Amino acid sequence: MKPCACCGMLVEDGAYHPYGACLMMMAAKDSAVVQTNLDAIVRYGEDHVRGERKSLAILEADLVEKRKAVRKKIREREEDTRAAVERAILATVRVCDASLLTPEFVEKEVEEIVEEVMETAGPFWETPFG
Ligand SMILES: [Zn+2]
Repeated sequence: MKPCACCGMLVEDGAYHPYGACLMMMAAKDSAVVQTNLDAIVRYGEDHVRGERKSLAILEADLVEKRKAVRKKIREREEDTRAAVERAILATVRVCDASLLTPEFVEKEVEEIVEEVMETAGPFWETPFG
């Protein structure tokens, strides 16, 4: 503790003592009153930070949920796209040579062609998404 050079109030090292405190001290001439007001300001700041932390944590949790939902959508749309490509392949084969549509062809060949088409098209979703 040492006296403030401005108002003479005894202040602990590193304690919050703005010029406003000096003005209060000069007006009230009572360090207890000044300290009570300073403590209230510090408490207000701490409460405010706690409130913001809570609010930001809620936003963050919401963002995590939204990211999960978007990842799910990406997976669903990729599956839908594969299914659509598969239908297009089957339709084309049916028109060209329906005799090719054996269970063996449908289960193995078509899947390989779908994979090739998807690879040629590039990554399904290119935006980095952490
Ligand atoms: Zn002072």
